[in-house]
Amino acid sequence: MTEEERRDGIGTGPPAEPAERADDRPLAAVVPKPEAEIAIESLRAEGVYDGDRRVREYDANHVALPVTEPPSEPRVREVVRQVDPDYRTRDLEGLLAERGWSDAALATAPGSWAVVGSVVLVTLPDDCADEDDVADALLELHGGAETVLADEGVSGTFREPATRHLAGERDTETVHVEHGTRYALDPAAVMFSPGNEAERVRMGDVVEAGETVFDMFAGIGYFTLPMARAGARVTATEANPTAFRYLLENAALNDVTDRVDAYRTDCRELADELSVDRVVMGYYGEADGTDDAGHGSRTDEAEAFLPAALSALEPGGTVHYHEATPEARCWERPLSRLESAGRQAGRDLAVREKRRVKTHSAGVVHVVVDAEVE
Ligand code: SAM
Repeated sequence: MTEEERRDGIGTGPPAEPAERADDRPLAAVVPKPEAEIAIESLRAEGVYDGDRRVREYDANHVALPVTEPPSEPRVREVVRQVDPDYRTRDLEGLLAERGWSDAALATAPGSWAVVGSVVLVTLPDDCADEDDVADALLELHGGAETVLADEGVSGTFREPATRHLAGERDTETVHVEHGTRYALDPAAVMFSPGNEAERVRMGDVVEAGETVFDMFAGIGYFTLPMARAGARVTATEANPTAFRYLLENAALNDVTDRVDAYRTDCRELADELSVDRVVMGYYGEADGTDDAGHGSRTDEAEAFLPAALSALEPGGTVHYHEATPEARCWERPLSRLESAGRQAGRDLAVREKRRVKTHSAGVVHVVVDAEVE
């Protein structure tokens, strides 16, 4: 019996619930009060801190930090099951209503946001009634968060984010843990697309250990890291020096430096020197995806990189071609572009999979086509 269970009367006498019921009460890590802040940082980096619950006092000298699973954090004195966890109000509207927001004001609150490590990125409606209130409420809602940034879009060839500090710490460097992959980044300096999570996980699933991959637009290692962690040997190119620095850091953070060859260069510079089993083209340029009549066909759009991608691909290899496609031209446009690139390269392609990754913007969808190239 832990002290908390003893103190709270659990454990005195036969258990009230049927013995066979699995104990699903939430866990907490007990640490000395003076070490709480450092321990929370470490639990967050380990990806086990539970921001949905508040920290609780455990006894005169200790606090109970909410965790989702037993941590490896050295400062933890013991892990206990909480008999009366203190959950935060679980939605933004509830918190804003507690702050006196009227129904009309609540209609101007943001409907979605992303939590990247310890940073909340929120797209504020233009008519938001009180952005400071929203930011404070988001910090309250996500106990593991330290900063709230207004997300004002991504632009340029380097896909750089525009953000505005709303609340909390000004230092926004963080570590985001996703399915065991650790991404160090500064969301104010490099993009991170929560909408691509399923695709990042898929890339780790489709590769075989030992296969060779060319990740043309590696960024901070969005796809490179899950693939290398799955045993692939990845050649990664990234043109943005800031993203490239994180790519190198993240290869070390995930212990895959022996399987990642990173180059800060335009991917087209290296393509002809490679002959790999798989090429990932995770970039759709600045194009807004509208039809080709004068829009969305700029040279930096994904299509322009297909010749380089095919030149790096072994016969029988697979290319993952990403595009921002108008709904009305899905799947005709990406498929015709792939076929045309295959013809120009004198190679046959067979489409193996077509996936909608996420909504890109109104009427435009981010898609990926997997094609096997003879
Ligand atoms: N596919 C990932 C995702 O969506 O999360 C990464 C996309 S990321 C926005 C695309 C990256 O490609 C950016 O970091 C950008 O700097 C880089 N990039 C753009 N053009 C490039 C080029 N010609 N060669 C190498 N990297 C390039």
